[in-house]
Amino acid sequence: MNIILLGPPGAGKGTQSAGLVERHGMKQLSTGDMLRAAVKEQTPVGLAAKAVMDRGELVSDEIVSSLIDENLAALDTGTGAIFDGYPRTAAQGEQLDELLAKHGRTLDHVIELEVNVDALVERITGRFSCGNCGALYHDTANPPAKDGVCDVCGSTEFKRRPDDNEETVRTRMDEYRAKTAPILPAYEARGLVARIDGMAGIDEVAGAIDAVLAG
Ligand code: ADP
Ligand code: AMP
Repeated sequence: MNIILLGPPGAGKGTQSAGLVERHGMKQLSTGDMLRAAVKEQTPVGLAAKAVMDRGELVSDEIVSSLIDENLAALDTGTGAIFDGYPRTAAQGEQLDELLAKHGRTLDHVIELEVNVDALVERITGRFSCGNCGALYHDTANPPAKDGVCDVCGSTEFKRRPDDNEETVRTRMDEYRAKTAPILPAYEARGLVARIDGMAGIDEVAGAIDAVLAG
């Protein structure tokens, strides 16, 4: 099973990917996470991407598609992939089709998380994650059970993304509207799109995604 999770920044793609990994043993392929790792390691890709990401603009199609290529090459053929935050442009969509064919995979579902744009700034500015294991939290909607302690690994170190500020969020929304939303009709024509209410609670969204996967 190979699926794309699509939706604007803050829609819940990372949160739902983590649940899918846990429930179904799938592999999350998040180009945002790959790019942040490259920035941290100061690789040539990271050095090229950092300023673009800080502005909330899109990194080049070639860079992100080659990251996906490398990750698919390393993935066991029996393990399903969740594409999180990729593809984000029509060109990336075409590149993904080529990469799936190259690695002997087919696309099963494109799951669109529908959200109210007004809620997204609040979701993104309240987002933080565990500095050790990366578990995602939100100041009010999804805080750790014990204040200051990660539910998953017990770490007390947390971090916030430098691009999770109100100004950058607006640019990221504009990029989504202009470049990413327009790729949906092509997937619709292929009968692959399922729309899910991303404003529901985290567990409810997870249940709706599982219902789509169960077909
Ligand atoms: P994305 O990967 O699409 O950018 P995230 O999964 O990181 O989005 O979610 C953004 C923020 O919203 C996080 O702080 C997360 O804890 C919170 N969040 C995710 N899903 C929900 C939900 N269904 N209801 C409320 N808050 C949510
Ligand atoms: P995300 O973690 O998905 O919110 O992505 C964070 C940032 O990484 C984005 O604002 C872009 O600058 C960059 N990025 C992540 N994925 C892609 C992609 N598929 N195409 C272009 N840029 C991306």
